[in-house]
Amino acid sequence: MKTSEGIEKAGRGRRILIAGGGLGGLTAALALLRKGFDVEVYEQASALGEIGAGVQIAANGTRLLQDLGMNDALERIGTNITGKEIRLWSSGRTWPLIDLGATSVERYGAPYFTLHRADLHEALVAAIRRLKPDTFHLGCKAVGCKQDGDKVLLELEGGAAASGDALIGADGVHSRIRQALFGADRPKFTGCMAWRGLVSVDQLPSTVTRTGGVFWLGPGAHIVHYPVRRGELLNFIGIVNRDDWQVESWTARGTTEECLKDFEGWNDDVHAMVRGIATPYKWALIVREPLTQWTVGRATLLGDACHSTLPLLAQGANMAIEDGYLLARCLEAYADDLQAGLESYQTLRLERTTRIVQASTDQLGRNTHPALSDPALAEQHIAKEYAQGQVVNDRYDWVYGYDATRVAIP
Ligand SMILES: Cc1cc2nc3c(=O)[nH]c(=O)nc-3n(C[C@H](O)[C@H](O)[C@H](O)COP(=O)(O)OP(=O)(O)OC[C@H]3O[C@@H](n4cnc5c(N)ncnc54)[C@H](O)[C@@H]3O)c2cc1C
Repeated sequence: MKTSEGIEKAGRGRRILIAGGGLGGLTAALALLRKGFDVEVYEQASALGEIGAGVQIAANGTRLLQDLGMNDALERIGTNITGKEIRLWSSGRTWPLIDLGATSVERYGAPYFTLHRADLHEALVAAIRRLKPDTFHLGCKAVGCKQDGDKVLLELEGGAAASGDALIGADGVHSRIRQALFGADRPKFTGCMAWRGLVSVDQLPSTVTRTGGVFWLGPGAHIVHYPVRRGELLNFIGIVNRDDWQVESWTARGTTEECLKDFEGWNDDVHAMVRGIATPYKWALIVREPLTQWTVGRATLLGDACHSTLPLLAQGANMAIEDGYLLARCLEAYADDLQAGLESYQTLRLERTTRIVQASTDQLGRNTHPALSDPALAEQHIAKEYAQGQVVNDRYDWVYGYDATRVAIP
């Protein structure tokens, strides 16, 4: 059934509870509302919003946001980067890596955008509120869930609870719903941490690339930066081999001095970026064995809650968006049997997300190889590992080319 706006109504008002209003939970909420499900989002924060940082959304994610009616918002808030290049930590020498401007649309069927997370989050919230103004329940921390054959109960801190036909745990890397369904996880620290920060481009020398994404490669550390907010800001992520910071947190702060120390001896452009970061944040890189099951009866997981990944392929949020979109397609296909829909979603997602988690971990050694300390060896390493053409296409085609609007629902 379709409404006059073309919005499909397969959900027939079935009530879907979502714990967590991050990019994954919001995508699921929007996709489900558009299919006629009734959605309630329970978010622990007392106000809606995202952290002050950037996010790269590749063709596999943007095509879904476009399909959900977000194209105008993406054009307005996103930066359509030209491509990505490599730079060497010491000399600053540059090599092209991948063209992503028009090529992303030609090769992968959708654009590549870099965005401020808060802008994307706000646009998704607005789109959801247009369909259902009272979707959000703030200051509601999920602590567990229970279910019987007909209903699932989301338990909230303080003793309140909500009842629905299905529950989606989209509550991030420290997910309480994952814990309730599958018990405690076993995090493994990688020995690396990430520095994050935003820099106003006014403060930067003209030698810092502003139109594309840049990978600075060095022995024991690497940096990714790209423009956001129509090029007004540069998002900086510096990943360092360091074992004295082991907390996964979006809000833990470090200092400029500490960050500069981690990039001692690096090119002046790098120091200019680090000095320009208003507040440098620290996030420990932690891996988990991917789960082999996400769904139990009427409850399932999505995004970081079930496949947290290292940010080395910039695909965690893209996967959360794919999950949310496909979950809605699966529930639509099994509208009369939501449990079967959640099983179908798990079948569809396990292989791809596990492969991306593994491929992201594999990037770590490649980007910080010891050969990078010597300029001649560095050149050989870069020619072998980052050569334009086959090497790069093999690495990205299957990631960016995936089209969740067309995959068959099992
Ligand atoms: C440094 C860094 C850079 C990254 N860059 C990229 C990138 O460029 N591109 C990309 O695709 N990915 C990137 N990622 C990964 C990406 O940030 C995550 O994969 C993505 O945010 C996951 O989305 P999510 O909705 O699953 O979880 P989250 O974004 O963590 O959202 C979870 C939400 O649930 C809420 N919540 C948590 N617990 C509860 C609870 N108990 N009850 C209710 N609500 C709760 C939280 O407040 C939050 O709103 C990066 C990650 C890092 C660390």
